[in-house]
Amino acid sequence: MRHVNQWAIGNVTVHKIDETQFSSRIGAWLLPDVDPDDISDSRHRTPGGGIASGTHSFALVSEGLKILVDTGIGNDKPRANPAWDHLDTPYLDRLTEAGFSPGTVDLVLLTHLHADHVGWNTVLRSGRWEATFPQAEYVMNRAERDYWKNAALEPSRAAMIGDSIEPLEALGLLSLPDVPPDGLDITPEVRLIPTPGHTPGHLSVLIQSEGFQALISGDALHHSIQVERPEINASVDIDGSQARSTRLDLLRWAAKDHLLLLGSHFPSPTGGYVETEGSTFRFRPVGNG
Ligand SMILES: [Zn+2]
Repeated sequence: MRHVNQWAIGNVTVHKIDETQFSSRIGAWLLPDVDPDDISDSRHRTPGGGIASGTHSFALVSEGLKILVDTGIGNDKPRANPAWDHLDTPYLDRLTEAGFSPGTVDLVLLTHLHADHVGWNTVLRSGRWEATFPQAEYVMNRAERDYWKNAALEPSRAAMIGDSIEPLEALGLLSLPDVPPDGLDITPEVRLIPTPGHTPGHLSVLIQSEGFQALISGDALHHSIQVERPEINASVDIDGSQARSTRLDLLRWAAKDHLLLLGSHFPSPTGGYVETEGSTFRFRPVGNG
């Protein structure tokens, strides 16, 4: 199996860096209202017929900057979820193979502060959590960091923030811009777009080059079945009604402007176009990536 796949968006090549594939048990927990039999693309079901999902990052170069979007679950992390606990994956080898060795990454864009999106922010070295990407500026929406600062945290979440966010803050590597509703340019080709609902400060990442566009959707969607059934929320969406309206807006936009949708938990094929079909949409995968 190839663990690095890519798409060309004009002059920008977006690489997918695989981390994990989840079992159907995780899919059923994430999307309890989905009947796996309704998933038309068998590649988005597990071999046993369940809901397939996984974790990966996207990596790209824009204006000479090496940019990573989300950092998966990470290795060695103590986590309450057994599927995420003390992972040992060759994710960094895959990242390096794609041309993004950790010391060369300039920017890490974090869609939101959940354990499966910030894990590789840090690595365990001699019993300490150190920045995996020591030359990088890590970027998160200020509203997202503020929300978790003010939330009552269960111990496991506090531990996650302690091992994956606070070490960056101590090093001065975490940047917290206020991302306005219409977005914030990171480079002329890369723009952060607020897509709240799953979490209050959730971001998607828009890539535009030479008239082509792609959107990394973070957890605005967890599975391609939500393209056809945008009313279905994930169990972990914090504000269900906002998540639903954000998802619908995003899909309308993707269909109208021919955005390549890159799903942050979609198994391969991970990228595809959104087409209007009757009163809803369908996901038309591009390639096998
Ligand atoms: Zn997630």
